[in-house]
Amino acid sequence: MRSKVVVGNWKLNGSLAGNEALLKALLREIPRDNPVACAVCVPSPYLAQVRALLEGSGIAWGAQDLSRFDQGAYTGEVSGRMLVEFGCRYVIVGHSERRSIFGETDEVAAGKYVAARKAGITPIFCVGETLAEREAGSTQAVLARQVDALLRAYGAPGLERGVIAYEPVWAIGTGRTATAAQAEEAQAFIRGRIGAKDKAVAESVPILYGGSVKAANAAELFAMPDVDGGLIGGASLVAEEFLAIWRAALAR
Ligand code: PEP
Repeated sequence: MRSKVVVGNWKLNGSLAGNEALLKALLREIPRDNPVACAVCVPSPYLAQVRALLEGSGIAWGAQDLSRFDQGAYTGEVSGRMLVEFGCRYVIVGHSERRSIFGETDEVAAGKYVAARKAGITPIFCVGETLAEREAGSTQAVLARQVDALLRAYGAPGLERGVIAYEPVWAIGTGRTATAAQAEEAQAFIRGRIGAKDKAVAESVPILYGGSVKAANAAELFAMPDVDGGLIGGASLVAEEFLAIWRAALAR
């Protein structure tokens, strides 16, 4: 059985004082021997602070993006090797905001997954359809295209050392959560797509749901057989909300 994973995505939010207050509140409840894989993915300038606060705790940390390149003339980029120096265990790749605002293609997202694995970091590979794509009935075609780009770039063997996050674009930051049935249908499809290449890997890869997860809906989502936890945006900035989501994962 796969264990649950709960990851906070702080996006472009935070301050030294606010981060400290938030993390200290989480540490008051989350134990060192946390049975839920739990992490916060923070803006890169805060990695040193977050490492100092979380080292030795039951909460890991990570970044929200990385470069496909290891080093060189790539102004503004941050490499996997650099993230490792700050103790990052996770990195989000292919988030829909990277895809839609910064023009990242399926191939770029998959290339970042490969770069993260080369650096020894667990990538959280985000996939998901827009509202127009869902309404046009092309959800599965979009998910297949995104997952296939990863399968082409990395292959199925070894995918269990990464994480997939199903994040319907229409549910991210909108307060409109996918129903548990919608999340399950999409995530079972993703697992099946990987399973067509490697059944054992498909059974072990964690697939998270992301998109307006909050205390009020986490338990219902996490009860689904193919929902192995959550990628949490807005609610990860509020200690009580994030803790309630972590508790819902703990209870499964
Ligand atoms: C996200 O940022 O990946 C996300 C799912 O955001 P939210 O939980 O705010 O919808």
